[in-house]
Amino acid sequence: MIPEEDLSRLRQAIDFVQVASEYTALKKQGQRWVGLCPFHSEKTPSFSINAQEKLYHCFGCQASGDVITFIRELEHLDFVSAVERLAQKAGIHISYEEDADFALVRKERKSLLDLMTRAAEWYHENLLSHPQAGLARDYLRSRGYDGTLVRRFKLGWALDSWDGLVKALNIDADLLVKARLGFVNKTGRLQDSFRSRIMFPIFDISGQPIAFGGRSLPNQNTNALGGISKYKNSAESSLYSKKKVLYGLNWAKNAIVRQDLAVVCEGYTDVMGFYTAGVENSVATCGTALGEEHIKVLSGFAHKIVLAYDSDTAGQSAIERFYEWEKKYSLDISVAVLPPGQDPGSLAAKDPQTLSLAVKNSEPFLLFRLKRVFEKYNLSTAEGRAKAARAGLSLIDQYPDPIVKDLYLMQIADMSQLDPNVLRSQISTKGQNFSNSHTFLKKRPVLTTAKPTTALPMVELIALRIAINRPEEVMDLEEFLFSNELTHACYIALASHQDIHAAIGDSDPEVSKLLSKLAVEDDKGETGREIIARLVERAVLKELSKFEMKARRSNSLSVDMVAEFSWLKLSLEKIRQDDYSQDLLKSLLQWLHKFNSN
Ligand SMILES: [Zn+2]
Repeated sequence: MIPEEDLSRLRQAIDFVQVASEYTALKKQGQRWVGLCPFHSEKTPSFSINAQEKLYHCFGCQASGDVITFIRELEHLDFVSAVERLAQKAGIHISYEEDADFALVRKERKSLLDLMTRAAEWYHENLLSHPQAGLARDYLRSRGYDGTLVRRFKLGWALDSWDGLVKALNIDADLLVKARLGFVNKTGRLQDSFRSRIMFPIFDISGQPIAFGGRSLPNQNTNALGGISKYKNSAESSLYSKKKVLYGLNWAKNAIVRQDLAVVCEGYTDVMGFYTAGVENSVATCGTALGEEHIKVLSGFAHKIVLAYDSDTAGQSAIERFYEWEKKYSLDISVAVLPPGQDPGSLAAKDPQTLSLAVKNSEPFLLFRLKRVFEKYNLSTAEGRAKAARAGLSLIDQYPDPIVKDLYLMQIADMSQLDPNVLRSQISTKGQNFSNSHTFLKKRPVLTTAKPTTALPMVELIALRIAINRPEEVMDLEEFLFSNELTHACYIALASHQDIHAAIGDSDPEVSKLLSKLAVEDDKGETGREIIARLVERAVLKELSKFEMKARRSNSLSVDMVAEFSWLKLSLEKIRQDDYSQDLLKSLLQWLHKFNSN
């Protein structure tokens, strides 16, 4: 953990306007800085910065946060890396305060990362210049991988030796095993995990090597004789989890964000192939199927995902899972249709244009599956068309959205030259009702639960804005003056934290969002005193009507009650005429306080 002191020191030292200016041009407008939003594309500026508090908010896409969030989101960094990057810019030293266990974990992680970097470097140097790597270099050249590509992807070569890496790095056995770079064999000797393989370092999102994929050379592929397998990946470690890591994301992330589209392929060489074909936004799963964790990671970068698997693999993927992910992560998943038997890696060498066109003309996943099903039948006969239609119907039946389903039903009708109504009747006999709009409504995802800000009481919003920018003016604010759940929560957040950063960091997303938004709103010059008076007036009016009801219900009004009642009425009148003292406001607040605590 980074101590709060260091964070606030960093926030003080950093010039947010300067940092943000590296991403968008900013202009001063009143006390704010405004510009085109770096988080979404727009033509008129809706992005605004509060330079003093170092907070931003976009009135277009609702992106908001502080200078750390800004760097995190734009550079796709974790919290610590973002802080480190800013600290470097500001020339500030950040200390880590942590318990002993955590310090140990962190220290070990650093040692492992250092080790991986050294290993990647060693393998890479081997490939570039070791006499033993001649065959590997020839092979790569024959596949069209030149020196530039080899350097960009930092390919390497694991020597044909039991302990080449072990000896070269001269590293503590325990660490080497933890990094999955070596293991202790049955005779108790430390031995390399990879031998005689082309090495593909797998990097984490910030570009640090965390694992390796090793590919044997074709003439060594002697698996049938009990030899080595074609591909071998690092075993999972504390650095590397294959169900989360996507190969190439470190290079592709910016292109993915720019195009709002990620291409997912199966192997390291596919990613390299796409890159040479000019498709820079591709990533690969590492020796495992595309799973929800991968999807979750990708959904942080883009809304569109194009699968670039060979047709068979893509054709077997389960519709329900993809459908579920599309809904859950607001994604569109489609398929790049590659010529049969071709993988992106080999296609890139032969016909890069076809490869990039396949991505451009990708088909929605369900349509792709439907077409593959139809290919299996002889559509020149009535029986063949009927069978194909039936298979198609059972396929789209897995799709839960009735409207989409019906659109595909029309497609099936078209492809099989059958009457859509006949097909519909086929479906409804299975207990499915396509035209049931009620089900449709029920299954529609809820787009947003946030209440629109316009519906929030303006005077409460102004009070919060003053509390953020000029807290000394609204010392008298009380929580019962906030009638709205959200503004009330914002007030509590501000009142119970040292500063707005702590309040934002500690609150529900809805509260944080509103606070950041208020922090960059234009100050219209209302004074705290005015606003409190208006809040008090409103609260007294409300209580007064309750008070009146109570008075009416009781048969005899006490002298005290009558006096109280007339005092309130008189006070309200004074506020309305703008003829009130600070003392009067204080007394009314006290009265409200008493009234509210009863
Ligand atoms: Zn925006």
